[in-house]
Amino acid sequence: KRLEIGVAEHGIDPELLDDRAVKVVRTLSDAGFEAYIVGGAVRDLLLGRRPKDFDVATNATPEQVKALFRRAFIIGRRFRIVHVVYGRGREHEVIEVSTFRALLANEAAEQVSGNEKTSKDELAGKSHVVDASGRVLRDNVWGPQIEDAARRDFTINALYYDPQRELVVDYHGGFADVKKRVLRMIGDPETRYREDPVRILRAVRFAAKLGFELEPKTRAPVKAMIPLLQNVPISRMFDEMIKLLQTGHALASLDELRKQGLGRGVFSILDAVLDEKGALPDEARGQFVRRALEDTDRRVAEGRSVAPSFMLACMLWHEVQGRWQRLRDGGEPAVPALQQAIDLVFDARIGDISGRGKLAADMREIWMMQPRFERRSGNGPYSLVEQPRYRAGFDFLLLRAEVGDLDMALVDWWEDFALGSDEERRALVEQAR
Ligand code: ATP
Ligand code: MG
Repeated sequence: KRLEIGVAEHGIDPELLDDRAVKVVRTLSDAGFEAYIVGGAVRDLLLGRRPKDFDVATNATPEQVKALFRRAFIIGRRFRIVHVVYGRGREHEVIEVSTFRALLANEAAEQVSGNEKTSKDELAGKSHVVDASGRVLRDNVWGPQIEDAARRDFTINALYYDPQRELVVDYHGGFADVKKRVLRMIGDPETRYREDPVRILRAVRFAAKLGFELEPKTRAPVKAMIPLLQNVPISRMFDEMIKLLQTGHALASLDELRKQGLGRGVFSILDAVLDEKGALPDEARGQFVRRALEDTDRRVAEGRSVAPSFMLACMLWHEVQGRWQRLRDGGEPAVPALQQAIDLVFDARIGDISGRGKLAADMREIWMMQPRFERRSGNGPYSLVEQPRYRAGFDFLLLRAEVGDLDMALVDWWEDFALGSDEERRALVEQAR
């Protein structure tokens, strides 16, 4: 059944809306299409939070959407959507517009062998492509709103908001679930985890971020479904892990992962830092990561940006350091030893990083700066402070000092040097000899 909830009941504050998202909805509805703000934004609005991004759902096809906006790009293959872009550079904003999707023809969709097979139905444009475990590989069949709602993951993520009429549209009791603070999978949870095992990780992320409980039927199959995560492409797992750690509730996310039995064996990067129980150990390694994640959470709470490269550099530092030490013990000079240690850790923990060259390069740079902070003679300090990524390297140094990895006096020296006049810098270099 379709519920329409009015403003008296939902109480969404129009001040929390984004002008551009409202404009996209208006443009589409003026052109005769149905259009709503959808998904996480509606959930956040109901919780009185300002959504960080806005998605729009419509019955217009991607081509029809594109035609209505000056700067709009059709993107994606597995899931074609339109990015409507406003503004430029740092000010630019993207509103994602997706076309209502049809429900899976048959939920248990034809089981196929091999990685991907195109079924007769798909050739006729009527079905979804699934792999042997039931995972949906392509999903571009348009349908009515009621079907679009049914294929979303959790009831609280399947709400539609019409900003012009100030109406919330709800097919699955998501409004009541927001009020009860529960995370409830739409449909049969096991089937839905099979279709897309990443929903397991999404459940963890939303539980941690919103402080919601998993409803018992939604939680029940989780343990048994965990092995299916092995079928998910590494790059999607990687993105999902970064999201878990950048929700602003990174430590809560680690707790929730542990609670659901996902702390170890799922993300190789977490395997590098968590103990056998899936918890952060009390020793130095755990303290350093805890600090880094507290820092990340604080920054997000303050509305500041967080760089995944910095966070990942923190997660893997202990392993880099351990290997670096061993190579130096074996007689290798410090700098090449660090290069090698980094290569080994990338191979072991990140694997194929094609398409993420920038992220890996930034991590490497943060690490490679560390020994340079310890050499304070000649031109070294002058060129180091001029590095574009100096700030990240310095923040990393500070974090190390905070857990007792090195002397805070070194951090103070660099702070003074970075801020100092030419003369003060000369004196500092002199004094450090
Ligand atoms: P966030 O605040 O983290 O952005 P969100 O709910 O907006 O949370 P998105 O990943 O941006 O999450 O997805 C937008 C919407 O698309 C979701 O609210 C949900 O309705 C739907 N969705 C996204 N991923 C899935 C999925 N794997 N399975 C089913 N529905 C999904
Ligand atoms: Mg979103």
